[in-house]
Amino acid sequence: MPSSIHVQSYAKINWTLDVLFKREDGYHELRTIYQTVSLHDELKLSETTGAIEIACEDPRVPCDETNLAFKAAVLLREATGTSKGARIEIEKRIPVAAGLGGGSSNAAATLLALIRLWQIEIDERELIRIAARLGSDVPFFLIGGTALGVGRGEEVSPIEQVHCEHLLLVNPGFAVSTRDAYEKLSRLTSSEAASIIPFTLPAAKGIRELPLVARNDLEEPVLAAYPEIAEVKRRLLSLGARHALMSGSGATVFGVFDNSEMAGHAESELRAFGYWAERVRTVGRQEYHATIFQ
Ligand code: ATP
Repeated sequence: MPSSIHVQSYAKINWTLDVLFKREDGYHELRTIYQTVSLHDELKLSETTGAIEIACEDPRVPCDETNLAFKAAVLLREATGTSKGARIEIEKRIPVAAGLGGGSSNAAATLLALIRLWQIEIDERELIRIAARLGSDVPFFLIGGTALGVGRGEEVSPIEQVHCEHLLLVNPGFAVSTRDAYEKLSRLTSSEAASIIPFTLPAAKGIRELPLVARNDLEEPVLAAYPEIAEVKRRLLSLGARHALMSGSGATVFGVFDNSEMAGHAESELRAFGYWAERVRTVGRQEYHATIFQ
């Protein structure tokens, strides 16, 4: 029986994000294409006699019952009836509240790891249901790679994989709340929904071109409210990015580069300017599942 499990909890970007309309339940109806990238947190999970404990040195991450990994462990325990516990140590590398899905990824990684650690069985549909309760992005991290997300993003389907070697993630160092980002999309109402043609569905057909035509409906209103994010995007483009786009609800922007020299140069320049910047590449579904457990 494994006494502890090490997990790589990957970040995501969104190649596309269409916000269709606000639903009656308060969520927005989305069409998105998610992508896992090589930046990851490290999680170590060890079995305890019953307690669920979180340890994380990053002050922006709560170590109590509000941590998404904690919530994941509680829901999995309830669903399977096990009385086992776990200590979950989180080494954070993914910027927090940055549009990179760090908390959601930690939650999904915790579910997958605890199934092994506790040696329990759970029906796949039940697992997806638990993931969706934890957050709209959590089911995506059960499959990884490139995937289409509909509904509030929680209904995911694997699609053809996008490969992109030279991406640069840049974060200006402040958080944009997901709720705020959606509230800035005031132009959307249910009555307009019928006239909105989502970009995502045709984009899924021309998948290989996606890095250069990626699009995000939240970008315009968020950039208008946070000129510093627009500045990050402008700098990425002036440093040679073929395309640059805000990920999810921001504030991280990703740049798509032609080669590692240009991406490396942009990374040094943007770090010198005081931004957090990290070169990444896409992680396809096969690699995702082959490397999630170390
Ligand atoms: P998304 O793109 O899914 O909206 P995000 O990348 O913008 O997510 P997260 O990094 O997931 O945002 O963090 C959102 C909030 O969740 C933070 O304010 C943080 O306090 C809280 N949180 C709870 N658990 C975690 C965790 N394990 N890691 C990071 N943040 C967490």
